[in-house]
Order: sequence, then C-alpha cells, then structure tokens
Amino acid sequence: MKAPVVGILGGGQLARMLILAGTPLGARFQVLDSCSDACAGALAPLEVADWQDRDALQRLARAVDVITFDFENVPADAAEAIAASVPVFPQPNALAIAQDRLAEKALFAEIGLATPTFSAVSSRAELDTALQNVGVPAILKTRRLGYDGKGQFRLYSLADADRAWAALSSQAAEYGLILEALVAFESEISVLAVRGRDGEFRTWPLTRNWHTDGVLSLSLAPAPGLSAEIEAAAVEHTRALAERLEYVGVLALELFLDQGCLLGNEMAPRVHNSGHWSIEGAHCSQFENHLRAVLGLPLGDTGQSGQACMLNWIGSLPDMATFLREADAHWHDYGKSSRPGRKVGHATICASDPSSLRVRLQRIGRTLGREAQLAPVLTVLAQTEAC
Ligand code: AMP
Repeated sequence: MKAPVVGILGGGQLARMLILAGTPLGARFQVLDSCSDACAGALAPLEVADWQDRDALQRLARAVDVITFDFENVPADAAEAIAASVPVFPQPNALAIAQDRLAEKALFAEIGLATPTFSAVSSRAELDTALQNVGVPAILKTRRLGYDGKGQFRLYSLADADRAWAALSSQAAEYGLILEALVAFESEISVLAVRGRDGEFRTWPLTRNWHTDGVLSLSLAPAPGLSAEIEAAAVEHTRALAERLEYVGVLALELFLDQGCLLGNEMAPRVHNSGHWSIEGAHCSQFENHLRAVLGLPLGDTGQSGQACMLNWIGSLPDMATFLREADAHWHDYGKSSRPGRKVGHATICASDPSSLRVRLQRIGRTLGREAQLAPVLTVLAQTEAC
C-alpha cells in the first residue's frame, strides 16, 4: 500500500505529536502554518502561509491524501474550500461550531447538555443587562479565538464591569462576547473520544484536569471518584455530539462537575492537551487513533492499565537531566522557545495504582520545587487511597 500523506493545518505541538504517532503507521506529513518557527516544522516539511492564502491551501490539498488540524481556529470557510478537493477531517462544520462559544452552547442545548448560565454581549449596555441575568461572580469571554484563558475577564462585583469592558471591548466589535456565570465547580473533567469514518465510537477513561490562570496545569486519568452515572452521562453527551456532527477523528469535551451535575464548558475538534497522558498511559494514544480515524483505519484500544498523570511545562522547561534522574517518567520537549504562559512541553508519570503514583509525584515535587503545582493531584490521590 502506498504511504498515505497527511496534511496538517497548524504546526504546533499537537501536529508534532501527530507526526510522531503516525510515523510507525507509515504515514508521511506536510504542515501548513503562518509562523516560520512552528515547532512541527522540525519533523515534516512546513509551508509558511496565511490561512487565507487559497493557493497555498490548494497546493497542500493536491499534495496529500487527507487534511486534518492541530488548531481549531483555521477559518472554517478556508477549510470548506479545500474540502471540495480532498477529504478534510474533522469536517469544517465541527470547526465552525467550535470556533464560536455561542454556537457551541446552542449545540450543547440541542443534545441536552446543560451549561453555565450565559448571555451574549455586544455592547457596554448589553454587558449591564447580561450582569442582571447572570449575576456575579461571572466571566466575560470573547466568543472567538480565545484559548488558554486568553480573551477572558473575571468579574467579582458589578463595579468590575467597566474594567471588563475596557479589557475586551475591542474584541466585542469584531467577534462578540459572552458572559457566563463563574461556576464554583467540584472538578473539571474531560472526555476524549474518537469516531472512525465508519461511525465506530470509543472513549478513553475520563480525565480530571486542573487549570492555573486558565491554562491546563495537570491531568489525572482515570479521573477518580466519579459515579458510574456521571461517567455514563459524560460519555453519552460526547457520543451525541460526535454523532450529531458526523464527526471523524478525536473530539474532546470539557465539563464542569457542579453539585453533582455535568455542565458543558467547551469542545475541541482535535486532539487535546488533556489527552496527552494517553501517549504512554493508554494502549493506543489519542494521536495514533486520530490518524487511524482520519485515514479510515480500524481504531485502536483506548483502554488504560494503571494510573497516569500529565504535568504541563508552562513558560519554560525544568532541567531535563535532573527530571530524568529523579523521575521514572516520560519527557516531551516541544522545541519551542520559553515565554511566560506558553506550553513548552509536558511529562507523563504512569504507575500501577494511585499510591505508587502519589509517591512518584511527591518525589518530583520535591526535586523540582513543584510542590504547589502538584498539590491538588496529591490530595485527590490520597483521598482515593483512603476510600
Ligand atoms: P475556557 O477557555 O473557556 O476553557 O476557560 C479556561 C478555564 O477557565 C477553564 O478550564 C476553567 O478552569 C475556567 N473557566 C472557564 N469558564 C468558567 C466558568 N464559567 N466557570 C468557572 N470556571 C471557568
């Protein structure tokens, strides 16, 4: 069989990990990104072009067998235009919905998934009306192009409205805003799912996540302490989304668990940071299964033996040699330069049970001075052991 060539729109770390997972499958890759230093460019040919450059998109479409994404903010009309020439998975309609928080919430309502109370906001006067409906605390978000906590402002009293508007009004004109109730959730969980071209649907064990300043800091899988009803409901919501979108590839659904109820936060039509643990922690990773799905191959086993914790390196990497000496763990350096708030790598620590995972994480916390980052996961693991 001829080696399939996969085109990836966006050349960040997700593209890089797709390439690493797809190479043993015999796949080859071509990447398109608007930045010349896109980190996937170290592993596959990279064309640097703007997303609106239709010639560059058509050149990529002619050179590959299928196109997928590392980045959901590729303009949906550009994705639509190339879908006429080459299969594009996930389909541009899923991209279009995930790009707009309001459209996303409408879809969640359609499949019966509750969300935090929200109101659309496009002017300063509408922000006051929205605050009456939603109350405080609340979080004002840009409808489009927000990621890793960017394009968000938290309001703790009505007096914060002017500052919130000053921070986001320029984006209100262009994209519109949304005001959401700030939920005092018990936990954040994500469902990572994959749907094949033939409609086969699988999920990985649910993942519990912790964010710092809106950026994912830690993921733990399987998420401990969830009832069978909550797990089944989370999976069924994700299945309903995937079927409604006739989705192909990996899909992530981020949920809040609030007073025993699931609330939909957002979905990602791509491989997701909260699924990075699956590279070493699951029998078949999200990256390999995404490629299997988009290439029309049989899906791999999403099961997991034991417990895994993923720790993001944000801003800069710790010393690799120290980490590898002290931790029996897996190291991922994305090849990106250091910058505050930027995801530059991650590590995954696997263990057979919660108590051995806790011992390993404690050692990493001490050695790298990361006790504060690891504290929430250590508390949850200790509670799990006590049960
Ligand atoms: P988002 O980009 O919408 O996923 O927001 C990033 C992170 O901010 C989430 O993972 C949560 O930790 C937090 N967050 C976002 N929206 C809310 C909300 N409505 N209530 C509480 N926390 C939120």
